[in-house]
Amino acid sequence: MIYLDNNATTKIDEHVLEAMMPYFQEEYANPSSIYGFSKKASDAIKEARGVIKDFINAKDEKEIIFTSCGSESANTAIKGVLTYNKSQKHIITTKVEHPCVLNLYQTLEKQGYKVDYIGVNSDGDLDLEELEAKITADTALVSVMWANNETGVIFPIKKISEIIKSKNKETKFFVDAVQAAGKIPIDVQENGIDLLGISGHKFHAPKGIGALYVNSKTLITPLIVGGHQERGKRAGTENVPYIAGLAKAAELAQDGLKYEATEVKRLRDKLESNLLKNIYNSRLNTGVSNRVPNTTNIGFEYVEGELILLHMSDLGICASSGSACTSGSLEPSHVLRAMNVPFTAIHGSIRFSLSKYTTEKEIDYVTEKMPEIIQKITAISPYQDELAELKKHKIANGRY
Ligand code: PLP
Repeated sequence: MIYLDNNATTKIDEHVLEAMMPYFQEEYANPSSIYGFSKKASDAIKEARGVIKDFINAKDEKEIIFTSCGSESANTAIKGVLTYNKSQKHIITTKVEHPCVLNLYQTLEKQGYKVDYIGVNSDGDLDLEELEAKITADTALVSVMWANNETGVIFPIKKISEIIKSKNKETKFFVDAVQAAGKIPIDVQENGIDLLGISGHKFHAPKGIGALYVNSKTLITPLIVGGHQERGKRAGTENVPYIAGLAKAAELAQDGLKYEATEVKRLRDKLESNLLKNIYNSRLNTGVSNRVPNTTNIGFEYVEGELILLHMSDLGICASSGSACTSGSLEPSHVLRAMNVPFTAIHGSIRFSLSKYTTEKEIDYVTEKMPEIIQKITAISPYQDELAELKKHKIANGRY
């Protein structure tokens, strides 16, 4: 099995699992209890909070809230800011956010909020002029992802925070860093971020644990109300083993950033350039720079993405398509649509996402097999004239 779907989820690192184990059967006390037996559990949480603080360079451990996932972090941040400050009713976000953010904004629109969705260009880069023009005195929140889950495109977070603060100092800035954490350095102070969400299962911690950064100047109303855990910002008995696992994963991710930027990137680039060179009906759906090191999104023209995935699966290769198959109809990806990816390629777009576990041998295997798969599917495409024209064009331009 060759797993190139690490933006969907990742394998748990063995050191992470090891760090979690003591808190299942030995140190299982409720960390809020007052007897000595709970000390190891409460110490583990305290230590983990410090590790996450350092991981994102927050100023204070009190600014870290443990959550159950990236979706909860985003929901807590967005609803938390808007519920605390009911006077402003305007939100700015982008057309390419994750559904956990976009679907929430659609709900908020029904509740009377005005939401502006900023567009991107064909490389996937955000229209900063449009963003700047939309900020008004009524803007409560700007919410932007750091790296896109489908394309890997990185948004210029520092520039965006400067734009926001120059136009309205009261506007809060939430960053969904779920796909950035573990792939590029995260620094909330340097980038002027008010709230930031991460999710453990995207960087080799288990599914079911995340964190939210809320800077000390930002006040939120909690999403989950109950006990006094997480300083009253998120009720519920703490998930000690998973919190310990998240912290270990963050430590390992921090140490591994150089490997991501060099080795993971080298393998991604090798795969990408070989596929683009060896398959005439392929195109890179993004620009080449400005991306996290592990992701490439390639469109195969005049073929169906789901069919490509099935053929890949037969060979034990896991990746994702840009389409979401919902109730029998194939909806093209909202991200690729926002980038104006041509209709000829949008349905045949595949996201390959690597990790520290991806090997050269695996990349060589996928490089060898993909042209065979695409050729097989292309042969049964009803668009043979268009494909012949495309091939001629690519050969004429020396790109095949
Ligand atoms: N934000 C982005 C950019 C994501 O890619 C994901 C998950 O794919 C999420 C948020 C949601 O994270 P979780 O699955 O932990 O809820």
